[in-house]
Amino acid sequence: MNVKKVIETKKLSRVFKNGEIEVRALTAIDLEILEGEFVAIMGASGSGKSTLLNILGCLDKASSGDYYLDGVHVNKLNKNQLADIRNGKIGFIFQSYNLLSRTTALDNVGLPLVYDRTGRFKNPTEIAIKALKQVGLGDRMYHKTNQLSGGQQQRVAIARALVNDPALILSDEATGNLDSKSSIDVADLFVQLNNKGKTIVMITHEPEIAQFSKRIIYLRDGKILTDEIVKNRSTKESALQDLEISA
Ligand code: ADP
Ligand code: MG
Repeated sequence: MNVKKVIETKKLSRVFKNGEIEVRALTAIDLEILEGEFVAIMGASGSGKSTLLNILGCLDKASSGDYYLDGVHVNKLNKNQLADIRNGKIGFIFQSYNLLSRTTALDNVGLPLVYDRTGRFKNPTEIAIKALKQVGLGDRMYHKTNQLSGGQQQRVAIARALVNDPALILSDEATGNLDSKSSIDVADLFVQLNNKGKTIVMITHEPEIAQFSKRIIYLRDGKILTDEIVKNRSTKESALQDLEISA
């Protein structure tokens, strides 16, 4: 069986230049991520995690090396093409939920579809409702997001990332602002989405959250230090139990 490569990088590097000073944020990253994988990226602060995710998400460009997303050679794309590929293939989730606070959950989730220029979404409201139900917020659709808890807001952000049916979900510390219980809910939601076939790459500095993934990549000083399959994956039940024991 030939499983599709969603991500392939070859000797990918990113150097930031601030005047005289050069920061090598990423050095010669060779990475393959197949369709259906669920990968956690870990590493100390400053190790290059966000830089890598931003490049994978076409928010930033590599200084050298190659990046193929879903078979497309990203290096060769111009700004508009990058925006199209972002809107078409990628769902982003950030630590700060980046929601419009005095706007309902439903309108926040439907927003990406308003900007979609492909015309492939015939009924935006229906799609947004379905996404909110999928993240367990069917009964909170008409709440303004500033009336929701942090965990609920992050789930709204996840629903928003889902509406354009992305090939790839990228998450940068999605649980960074959440309490332990809400973090477990979000990690479990990622597992459910992955079980439905979504490819997920999530940055986290929390080992308990990484343990929900199928594969953990450690970065150190902009290089891949280790890349390993997760043997005893956490489940919502096991994680909640661990939480109780440690309390
Ligand atoms: P992490 O997400 O693992 O904490 P980052 O990818 O944010 O790490 O940063 C990696 C390195 O690149 C750090 O040394 C950081 O200071 C540097 N860096 C990141 N973004 C920029 C930027 N826009 N300009 C200059 N240096 C940057
Ligand atoms: Mg970061």
